[in-house]
Amino acid sequence: MHSITLIGSDQKYNVGKIVCLARNYLDHIRELANEVPDRAVLFCKPASSIIGNGEQIQIPPFSTNCHHELELAILISKAGKNIAEDQAMSYIAGYAVSLDMTLRDVQTELKEKGLPWDIAKGFDTSCPLSDFISAAQVSDPQNLNLSLKVNGEFRQRGNTNMMMRDLPRIIAEISQIYTLEEGDIILTGTPAGVGQIVSGDILDAEIEQVGTLQVSVA
Ligand code: MG
Repeated sequence: MHSITLIGSDQKYNVGKIVCLARNYLDHIRELANEVPDRAVLFCKPASSIIGNGEQIQIPPFSTNCHHELELAILISKAGKNIAEDQAMSYIAGYAVSLDMTLRDVQTELKEKGLPWDIAKGFDTSCPLSDFISAAQVSDPQNLNLSLKVNGEFRQRGNTNMMMRDLPRIIAEISQIYTLEEGDIILTGTPAGVGQIVSGDILDAEIEQVGTLQVSVA
């Protein structure tokens, strides 16, 4: 079981489910020519997909096109079902920098066949995560610059104010479907600029006030 310690506290969390939002930034929806969703588009990653700072992404042999998606991650502090938007922020224990690694070729094939994306999104090492910082230390999570460099060159830049669904709405909507529990993690979607990574690449991700994450590709 994967556990998380919040920076600046002794509090330990055992990671439960990882619920991920797709298509939450308009510029990214446009770059993949997807439709703007009426309802949140969700998928889950297993906790076994997590790797930490300094670790390596392993692209499975059945894929030749693995993409990076830079995302703000939320750690859930307590259990809740049908959470009201005006209560939602009190369910956030902390924030981290995350990468939703995606086997784009596999995902495209699954999409075309109308099949679930699990393999493309949940393979081992598909969820690099930085350390989590306590929510109290982030003044305005809905106005944070986020950026990703690959081998020193900017690939993704955005701000969490560009989300189509904001954090309270994300938590409220997800909790109508899945009971949220202590230790669950939510990945909140990626801005534009997703692209391929290859063996030997170094990925440096940063979210203002939240932290940094560096991983490499095996
Ligand atoms: Mg994503």
